[in-house]
Amino acid sequence: MEVPFVTFRPMEKELDKEIRAAFETVYSNSWYIEGEEDGKFEKAFAEYIGMDYCVGCGNGLDALVLALKALGIGAGDEVIVPSNTYIATALAVTYAGADVVFVEPDIKTYNIDPALIEASITGKTKAIMPVHLYGQACDMDPIMKIAGEHNLYVIEDCAQAHGATYKGRKIGTFGIAAGFSFYPGKNLGALGDAGATVTGDKQIADKIRAYGNYGCDYKYHHIYKGNNSRLDEFQAAFLSAKLKHLDRMNTARKAIARKYLEGIKNPLITLPFVPDYADPVWHIFAIRCDRKDELQKFLRDAGIGTNNHYPIPMHLQECYKDLGFKEGDFPVAELISRTEISIPMYYGMTDEQIDYVINKINEFT
Ligand SMILES: *Cc1c(COP(=O)(O)O)cnc(C)c1O
Repeated sequence: MEVPFVTFRPMEKELDKEIRAAFETVYSNSWYIEGEEDGKFEKAFAEYIGMDYCVGCGNGLDALVLALKALGIGAGDEVIVPSNTYIATALAVTYAGADVVFVEPDIKTYNIDPALIEASITGKTKAIMPVHLYGQACDMDPIMKIAGEHNLYVIEDCAQAHGATYKGRKIGTFGIAAGFSFYPGKNLGALGDAGATVTGDKQIADKIRAYGNYGCDYKYHHIYKGNNSRLDEFQAAFLSAKLKHLDRMNTARKAIARKYLEGIKNPLITLPFVPDYADPVWHIFAIRCDRKDELQKFLRDAGIGTNNHYPIPMHLQECYKDLGFKEGDFPVAELISRTEISIPMYYGMTDEQIDYVINKINEFT
C-alpha cells in the first residue's frame, strides 16, 4: 500500500465545483488585486477567529513582519521566539530589523516553555512570539502573564494552527496581533502563497494594511516606506470557499490523530502529548524515535511517506551563523531535530491507510 506524507487530491476532488466557481467569479469580475473578494475573505476570517480585524497579505512570513513593523518593532529591539519552529518565525524578526532571542521548547509539548521565558527578557525585549507548532496551542496563560508583567507585546504565529483552541478559546485571539499562513499545505491553504494578520486594534490593522501596500494610506499618498504584500483576488476567493470546510476538515484530522494515539503502541516511539488546555488541529502529527533514520527508511520501504519538522534547528542554520551559536546551545531543540518524524496526516486519508501506518510503525523493532 502507498500512503503519501500528504496529498491534496481528496480535498480537491470534493471542493472541485466550489473552487472552479470561485475562479469564475474573479475572472468574470476582471479585477485581481484589492477588490471585493479580499474584503469578503478578511471579514469571514476575522469572524472565524473572533478578532475584529483581518488584513490579508502575500504569505505567512509577511503576516508576521507586517505585525512587527506596525507595532514599531525594529532595530535595537529583541523578540523572543521558540528555538523549535519553522525558520519563518525567526526570519520575520530579522526582516523587521530586530534581534531574535531563542527560548527552548518544553520537550513534552514541543512548544515554547513559559518557565524559561523570563530569564531571556532584557531591557531591549519588545515582544514574545509564541508559535502554536504542529497545530497545538502554546500554554497561553503563563505567556500572557509574563508579557503583562514586563509590558511586552505578544504576537502569535498561528501558521500551523487555524482553528486550534486553548482552554476553548481560539488561538490568534490572545496577542495584540497574530499571523496566519495560507501556504497550500497549511490547514487552511490557498492555491498559491497567501497570508493574513488578525488584530483587535483598528490602528494596528490600518498600519499593517498600509505597510503591505507601499506604505500608502490612500492612493498615491505614502506615509511609510512600505512594501508590496497583498492578498490577491483569486486566492481570497479560493480561501473563502475553503474556509467553510475548515472545521469539518480539522475534525477529520482529529479523528486520524485519535486513531494514531490509540493504535501506535511501540516502546521505541514517543507520541505527541496533548495537555488538557489544548484542542489541536494536527497540522503535523509528530512522533519521536531515537533511531529516526532507520524508522524513516523502514516506513519508506513500506510505501509510507514521512517528513521532518525540522531537520536543522534555526540556531545551527547557515543563515544564522552570525549569531555565533554552536551545537549544544539549545539541546531541547536539537533533540527534537534529531528524533522527530512527521507521519502522514491529511484530509481524506482512508481507514485502511491509517491502519496500515499504525501497523507498520508497531512492527518496527
Ligand atoms: C508556514 C509557516 C510560516 C510562514 O508561512 P509562509 O506562508 O510560508 O510564508 C511561519 N511560521 C510557521 C510556524 C510556519 O509553519
